[in-house]
Amino acid sequence: MIINKMGIREQNEAAVLKTIIDNELVSRAEVSNLTNLNKASVSQITKKLIETDFVREVGIGDSTSIGGRKPIQLQFNHLSSLAVTFDIGYNYVRGMLSYINGEMIASANHSNELITKENVLATIDAMMKKFWSQMPKTPHGLVGICLAIHGIVHNRTIAFTPYYDLENFDLITPLSQKYNTDVYIENEANLTALGEYCFSSDSVNLLSVSVHSGIGVGIVVNGQLQTGTHGMAGEVGHSTLFPHGNLCPCGNRGCLEQYASNKVLFDTYGQYTKTNVVNSDIFAEAYHAGEKAAIELARQNVEFLSIGLNNVITFSDPEEVYINSSVYRKIPSLLIALQQKLTSQFTKNAKIKNSPLGDQAPLFGGTVLVAKHFLNINDLRFTSIDLSKAIH
Ligand SMILES: [Zn+2]
Repeated sequence: MIINKMGIREQNEAAVLKTIIDNELVSRAEVSNLTNLNKASVSQITKKLIETDFVREVGIGDSTSIGGRKPIQLQFNHLSSLAVTFDIGYNYVRGMLSYINGEMIASANHSNELITKENVLATIDAMMKKFWSQMPKTPHGLVGICLAIHGIVHNRTIAFTPYYDLENFDLITPLSQKYNTDVYIENEANLTALGEYCFSSDSVNLLSVSVHSGIGVGIVVNGQLQTGTHGMAGEVGHSTLFPHGNLCPCGNRGCLEQYASNKVLFDTYGQYTKTNVVNSDIFAEAYHAGEKAAIELARQNVEFLSIGLNNVITFSDPEEVYINSSVYRKIPSLLIALQQKLTSQFTKNAKIKNSPLGDQAPLFGGTVLVAKHFLNINDLRFTSIDLSKAIH
């Protein structure tokens, strides 16, 4: 079911709106110069964008210090529409209600329960109920819901999920019917890359490496997300590390994510220490306390992950590589160790960074996906958000 709440349809309108978003505050004359549209067209388009609440005028009638009036400036009205994103992990669901530019209104977190096709819709519904009661009244209302899936997404279908049973499960129809809005689904690592591109980075070529239950890489080349023919681009977790190694749910043996994922790190640490529940807090605490098993497992993790990174960097020559792992966030020295392993002529120039968006990156990326469709802008960037305030 495609409701298609596209807010902007016409190409010149989208071009004017993108120019206003990119420049934050801009006059009609500057928009005309930047878009190569004549002043009359810009005037007509901005009038429509103001009437439809996409743009607002700022500085009307203010006088400057040298006298005269400041030109009226145009600003994107991000308060006119709302987006909701859910990140559906194998044992958690995180949600975020935000304005269309990612400015957060509310967040929700459901954790420590394995997600299955039996409980996923009820979990999302409970969070939506909370968001619904917190939604401010806006001219366009809720313009889309995005779902981040830890698996392969292709043609609006969940094609393969190694760590939960949502394969071919239709989440779009029930949610779009119930909430009367467009519902988008995309791979979690892809959304994470989109979030970093739109909110964190100045570069147009970047990789975002999501290390959770598996390992996925989101690839942005020249400002565009690369998803491949079947939505499988960046499945680096399934590149071979050991040809006759551990069996992987993908069907191969020795896949990288069977050695370097956080799930494997926690499971292995749990076996060594006879601990049932291990998470990044527990692991980081053990590491910082100098516990031998934690230090050795972290060393191995850096070594294995660096091999995967070496391969993916040589393949795509990115300017920046964002590591999105709760372990690397809590133990920043591991990031330095990782960078130190990438010393070849082909990898030494890639800047390895901890993700500034952290575990909320797929939520921000989901908002971008909704905004791109609603605003009809393919190369969208929001630089005006203060992330230190936005991230909780
Ligand atoms: Zn595999």
